[in-house]
Amino acid sequence: MNLRDHLSHEVFRIIGLAAEQAQTEAYVIGGFVRDLLLEGGSASPKDIDVVVLGSGIALAEKVRQAIGRDLPLTVFKNFGTAMLKWDDTEIEFVGARKESYRRDSRKPLVEDGTLEDDQNRRDFTINALAISLNSENFGDLIDPFGGLRHLKEKIITTPLEPGSTFSDDPLRMLRGIRFATRLGFQIEAHTLAAIQEHRERIGIISQERISDELNKIMTTGQPGRGFLLLDETGLLEIIFPELYRMKGVEEVDGQFHKDNFLHTLKVLDNIAKETDNLWLRWAALLHDIAKPRTKKFEAGIGWTFHGHEFLGAKMIPGIFRKMKLPLNEKMKYVQKLVQLHLRPIVLSQDTVTDSAVRRLIFDAGEDLEDLMTLCEADITSKNERTVKRHLQNFQIVREKIVELEERDSIRNFQPPISGDDIQKAFGIPPSKAVGVIKEAIKEAILDGEIPNQHEPAYRRMLEEGKSLGLTIQQESGDGRGEAEAPAAGDR
Ligand code: ATP
Ligand code: MG
Repeated sequence: MNLRDHLSHEVFRIIGLAAEQAQTEAYVIGGFVRDLLLEGGSASPKDIDVVVLGSGIALAEKVRQAIGRDLPLTVFKNFGTAMLKWDDTEIEFVGARKESYRRDSRKPLVEDGTLEDDQNRRDFTINALAISLNSENFGDLIDPFGGLRHLKEKIITTPLEPGSTFSDDPLRMLRGIRFATRLGFQIEAHTLAAIQEHRERIGIISQERISDELNKIMTTGQPGRGFLLLDETGLLEIIFPELYRMKGVEEVDGQFHKDNFLHTLKVLDNIAKETDNLWLRWAALLHDIAKPRTKKFEAGIGWTFHGHEFLGAKMIPGIFRKMKLPLNEKMKYVQKLVQLHLRPIVLSQDTVTDSAVRRLIFDAGEDLEDLMTLCEADITSKNERTVKRHLQNFQIVREKIVELEERDSIRNFQPPISGDDIQKAFGIPPSKAVGVIKEAIKEAILDGEIPNQHEPAYRRMLEEGKSLGLTIQQESGDGRGEAEAPAAGDR
């Protein structure tokens, strides 16, 4: 097969010529070739991996000279590789190599090798496809392991014996599951069995790399499939025990609860259709994570998971720390969504009161839309009528949110009376009383007893102060007078 017509980017000819001048050979290999054969490729590809018989760094320098522009070139001496950046295209050059592994590390011993040696060291047959850039056979596909057929048949399998492939570098197990998930491919039976057999080897891989692969699985179109494969291979129990513990159903007195693991994966796949936001997807994956720990069978009621949203939110920092996921506002965002994930549901089941919606707007703040997206993804009933009813109820909640927001500006709530106002009004220092009065005003606004405006809030402040035995020192706190109270949201 010749793919000359697909190598439209100028750089391919330039690399071929530079290699020829250096009396060597160069090939494009790996992800670029795979994606080209799957999707027809693009005129300006993002990543191109080039393998050369000889020094990757030397060829990269020659190619840069030949292009004649001051393109950024990064050299990784330790790895013998170099990366050339041409506009948005990153071209990585590596010398063909032969690798051998020791038992305790995924860092191989490396020596120079042939193209075949280099294809042998690749993780999957679909990633070992190479295309010649040399003038005598420019564009020829070099496919020693049937990678092209595996692309057509949608199969993930290894070039060499799968057991040693995975044992040598166990990260490949996760890469295999990631590619199967992203491309919708099957992992070939012996390959799958080899992952099962060598699953414990994942222990030599750093958590950063494991989480990096998990995140890549999370960003695919149907991440749930990836977690099913992790479970099927036995990797899930090792790398994500909290999720593993959600598996299974229990029965008491003929009553079953649903399988929380399968439910979670359904929610994850649902939300993946609605958003690319990785952290919203993580919130979906973790929303019920505390169900195993809160599960109870209560006579006359059935299975309950009381407080799983609060315990779940509490579990998030521990999970993020262990997984080496960011311990910053992303984590707080996931925590918040997990903690609030039942609120819109409760709301949509009762008659929807203004004050309940106002409290939801206040608590969710700028993440309210994402929370609603999570809640809608959380509907996994097989009964279409039930699904429809829930969605309609959420629609009512959404409409109420819009209506109240227009009226009350609760989102990003700023108290209409500040602590400073209270201190001045009663001539008191910062103290507990100030907090009590502030809280009482906030509650009155959220309950709809007073509007979110300065004047009525000021009056409420005076009442609250009086009931605490405080006396007014300065009649209209900040000198603005009650008549000219600012509009809601001004402060
Ligand atoms: P992506 O689209 O995710 O970039 P890719 O196939 O290009 O997919 P990379 O991680 O960029 O993946 O690696 C480039 C190539 O290097 C792969 O196609 C594969 O041939 C080889 N490779 C990468 N990691 C490994 C590994 N752990 N073991 C063996 N070969 C690997
Ligand atoms: Mg790549």
